[in-house]
Amino acid sequence: MPEPVQPAWNLRDAQQSLTAELDRLAPVLDGLGSRFAEAGEDLHLVGGPVRDALLGRRVSDLDLTTSAAPETTERLLLGWADAVWDVGRDYGTIGCRKGEWQLEITTYRSESYDPASRKPDVAFGDSLAGDLGRRDFTVNAMAISIPDRTFEDPHGGVVDLAQQQLRTPGTPEDSFSDDPLRMMRAARFAAQLGFTVAPDVVAAMAAMADRIGIISAERVREELVKLVCAPHPRLGLTLLVETRLADRVLPELPALALERDEHHRHKDVYEHTLTVLEQAIDLEHRLDERPDFVVRFAALMHDVGKPRTRRFLPDGSVTFHHHDVVGAKLTRKRMRALRFSGDQTEAVSALVELHLRFHGYGEGEWTDSAVRRYVRDAGEQLERLHILTRADCTTRNRRKAERLRRTYDELEERIARLAEEEELAAMRPDLDGNQIMALLGIGPGREVGEAYRFLLDLRIDEGPLGEEEAGRRLRAWWSARTPL
Ligand code: ATP
Ligand code: MG
Repeated sequence: MPEPVQPAWNLRDAQQSLTAELDRLAPVLDGLGSRFAEAGEDLHLVGGPVRDALLGRRVSDLDLTTSAAPETTERLLLGWADAVWDVGRDYGTIGCRKGEWQLEITTYRSESYDPASRKPDVAFGDSLAGDLGRRDFTVNAMAISIPDRTFEDPHGGVVDLAQQQLRTPGTPEDSFSDDPLRMMRAARFAAQLGFTVAPDVVAAMAAMADRIGIISAERVREELVKLVCAPHPRLGLTLLVETRLADRVLPELPALALERDEHHRHKDVYEHTLTVLEQAIDLEHRLDERPDFVVRFAALMHDVGKPRTRRFLPDGSVTFHHHDVVGAKLTRKRMRALRFSGDQTEAVSALVELHLRFHGYGEGEWTDSAVRRYVRDAGEQLERLHILTRADCTTRNRRKAERLRRTYDELEERIARLAEEEELAAMRPDLDGNQIMALLGIGPGREVGEAYRFLLDLRIDEGPLGEEEAGRRLRAWWSARTPL
C-alpha cells in the first residue's frame, strides 16, 4: 500500500531545500541569467523544477521562461551552451545542453486554445504574470528569477503545496476549455505527487470530460503513461473513473466495476485490478528498470476480458471462460487506439493472454515440456509474467495465498533447473564424431564415443578450446591412453 508521499512539509524546510537546489544549480544557471539581464531580458526558473525543489526533491529538468523572443534566446544561448536545438519554435521553446544539464527555455506565453482544434493557438505574452496565469496548476505556476532569486507565486502555489492539493490558477472551466489535456494532467499529478484535487477542479473534470475527445491520442497517452508509472497510480485512476474521463480514454477500466451478482460470489473486478496493480508494483524490484510501464499496464488490463465473458450458471455461480484471450484482444485494440508502439502493445497483450496459464499448474502436475512451453510462450516477458501471476492473487485467505506463493516458487525453481540442465544438454564438444574419426584415423565404434566424452568433459571443465587445441589434446589423450 502506498504511504503518503509528503511527510511533514513546512515552509522553513521548503525554503531551505529551494535555496540548496538553487545553490547547486548556480554554476549552470547564474551565468545564463546574467547574459539575459545584460541583453535587457528576464529569465526565470519555472514550473516543475520550482515545485520539486520546494518539495525537497532533486531537480532534473530545467524549465525556464523568458521575456526574450525565441530568436533572441537562441542568440543568447549560442556561445554559452554546448548545444542548442529547436524544441518547438512556434511554441516559443528552445532547448540546450550545458555540461550534463538540459534546459528548455520558453518565451512568455498568453496562449488560448480554439475549443474545436487539437493544437493550441500560441500567442507570445509580455509578462511573467500572464505566463503563470496560463499554467495548469498553482503548484506549477511559481517562478524564481535568475540570477537574483525573486520568488513569484501569484496564485498561492506554496499554500497548495502545503495543503497537498491541485488547484487551477483561474477557474477550472476556463482552464480546461483552453486545453482539455489539463484534465488528464490533474489525474497525472495526483498520482505523481499524492495530492488531492480540489473539489471545483474535480467537478469541472466531470462536467467537461467529453472535451478530452479533441486532444490527440499521443498527448493523452503520454499523460496516461506518466500516471501509470507514478508512485500512486490508484489516486489518478480513481479520479479518471469517478469523473468519467476514463470512459473516453480507457473505457475497459470502469467497465470492470461489475455489479455483484445476487450471491456476492465474485469479487469486484475493478477493486481487484487496482490491488493487483499495487501488488505488481511491490514486486517491480525484480526488474532492472523501474518503474516498468509494461508490467503495470498488464496488471491494469489483465481482467478486461471479464465483463464480456461473464456467464451465470444455473446454480448461481459465475464463469469468465476465455477472458484471457478476449482480454488480450481488447488490450491490443485499446493500445493501438492510443498509438502505443507495436513492441509495447505486443508485450502487454502477451502478458494478458498468459496471465491464467499458471492456474493449470495445480500442485505441480506440469510435465517438463509444459514448463518449457510456458517459458517459450512468455519469451522476453517471462520475468514480468512471474510478477503479474504472483500479483494476481488477492484472496484474503492467508493459507490459500501462501500455498499459491509456494507453488509459484516451485515453478520458478523448476524453470531455473531446466534451464541449467538444458544448457548442459545443448553443450557440444569442440569436435564432432566425424572429425574425431578423421583425426585419429579410426572408424565408427566404442572408441569414438569414449573420445567424444573426453572432449565433452574438457569442454565443461575448460570452456571452448577451438578445433586446433582440441585436436592436439585429443591426440595426446589418444596416445597416452591404455587401450582396454
Ligand atoms: P515533469 O516534467 O516531471 O513531467 P512538469 O511539471 O515539468 O513535470 P511538464 O509537462 O514538463 O510538467 O510542463 C512544464 C510546465 O509547463 C508545467 O509545470 C506547467 O507549468 C506548464 N504546462 C505544461 N503543460 C501544460 C498545459 N497543458 N497547460 C498549462 N500549463 C502547462
Ligand atoms: Mg518538465
